[in-house]
Amino acid sequence: MGTNTEINEQFSALAGAVRGPVFAPEAEGYDEERTGYQLLAPHRPAVVVGATGEEDVRAAVAFAAEHGMKVAVQASGHGLAGPLDGGVLISTGRMSGVRVDAEARTAWVEAGARWERVIEASAPYGLAPLSGSLPSVGAVSYTLGGGVGLMARRYGFAADHVNRIDLVTADGELRQVTADSDPDLFWGLRGGGGNFGVVTGMEIGLFPVARVYGGGLYFDVEQVPDVLDAWRRWTRDVPEEMTSGVGMLVYPDLPMFPEPMRGRHVAHIQISYLGTAEDGERLVAPLRALGPLLKDSLHEVPFTESGAVFEDPDQPHPYRSDNRLVADLDPQALAALTKTAGPSAPAMCVVGLRHLGGALARTPRTGNAVGHRDAAYLVSVLSLVEPGAERTVRDLHREALAPFADGALGRSLNFSFGAIDQDQVRSAFAPEDHRRLTELKERYDPELLFHCNHAVSA
Ligand SMILES: Cc1cc2nc3c(=O)[nH]c(=O)nc-3n(C[C@H](O)[C@H](O)[C@H](O)COP(=O)(O)OP(=O)(O)OC[C@H]3O[C@@H](n4cnc5c(N)ncnc54)[C@H](O)[C@@H]3O)c2cc1C
Repeated sequence: MGTNTEINEQFSALAGAVRGPVFAPEAEGYDEERTGYQLLAPHRPAVVVGATGEEDVRAAVAFAAEHGMKVAVQASGHGLAGPLDGGVLISTGRMSGVRVDAEARTAWVEAGARWERVIEASAPYGLAPLSGSLPSVGAVSYTLGGGVGLMARRYGFAADHVNRIDLVTADGELRQVTADSDPDLFWGLRGGGGNFGVVTGMEIGLFPVARVYGGGLYFDVEQVPDVLDAWRRWTRDVPEEMTSGVGMLVYPDLPMFPEPMRGRHVAHIQISYLGTAEDGERLVAPLRALGPLLKDSLHEVPFTESGAVFEDPDQPHPYRSDNRLVADLDPQALAALTKTAGPSAPAMCVVGLRHLGGALARTPRTGNAVGHRDAAYLVSVLSLVEPGAERTVRDLHREALAPFADGALGRSLNFSFGAIDQDQVRSAFAPEDHRRLTELKERYDPELLFHCNHAVSA
């Protein structure tokens, strides 16, 4: 970039061009601003812009382009892909506005809005968004990556219900992208992630849902060793109104964990049902009968409490994960996974299974880049990474997912935490779609300004 004096002058010029705060590495607030939910390998930008609106985003992108710097975007830091080293980090947390149009059943969602804001703003109208397991996840990035939510089998991917996306591209232009204005770009943004620029806001669809019959059934895997396979068999006959998953982990034997789980290998069946509580009770009866329950939290839940279905932890931590989208779940593979990720694993593993299909399998009226709609299940494995344990965790995830290789269709980018290589990115899409995405990348981001985001490349 130049001498220290030149750099200081450039940063002063940037600070003068934006309304939000600008943080250089030595500035107070820099660490807080660059660090989000993911604590492993955070961004180390040369400068952070705390953007307050689209003009700030345009100025930050133009500054980066002018000085040959890369750009990363961070809303909440849940989906940190590769860290940015040097370059400009655009922090969007201040752009968290949500505007609901109850009549049109849509919401305008700014770049940094988390699902909890959208849920709260929609609930007074009896509406809900296609949010996922953890309400503090950023709505925009979740949707750009597809978005598999609590009502996924009934309504499809979040990316299937987007009407307009405002995007600042590498040339600093703000584009209002719709199916009519830029059909190719609109296709690629919905499923192709943050590859083509910085989204400043988007209009998404809302659904007439005020409550779900939901929560969790918790089993001790020692007492119900084939719980994963029993859930798999159960999913074969459930209606599209039923979206479910399983989380499985060994709870550390420490006082901070709740008594019935502490020190046990626990499988948590996660239920989100859109019908009546009565029908829900009837549908889950075979699951309740699988064995003794450590905990049963199923009841009618207002959508504002939908975080109770998965009970994902909300504290920042260092983690890595990998996943496979599969056409079916092989019972032997599930048994192997239960063992590999169980009490003898060299690192704590959180296994996640999600039942897909239903509306997820149907292409929306305005097609998009979401890959592998034909997948029936998602299998993921996530671990906390202690210092120096990254390699152990990577090897463990490889071993845990190896039994699913035969039926694997590819992977989901939304559930890939940490940097992944080009082959892995490619595996998230149909070959033809990946080619189309790389052409769009070439057209809209030829200098690869935006590369910390599971970037596509030929
Ligand atoms: C605990 C947990 C639960 C989750 N549950 C679900 C779930 O149920 N369903 C599901 O589909 N996914 C789920 N995810 C995955 C999540 O949707 C992705 O990780 C998503 O990218 C997170 O977005 P963020 O804004 O919170 O994270 P960030 O780390 O802030 O952003 C992630 C990436 O998105 C890009 N990005 C962010 N904002 C913009 C923008 N305005 N314009 C362009 N690019 C941008 C950036 O490249 C950034 O690296 C979960 C993740 C976690 C950690």
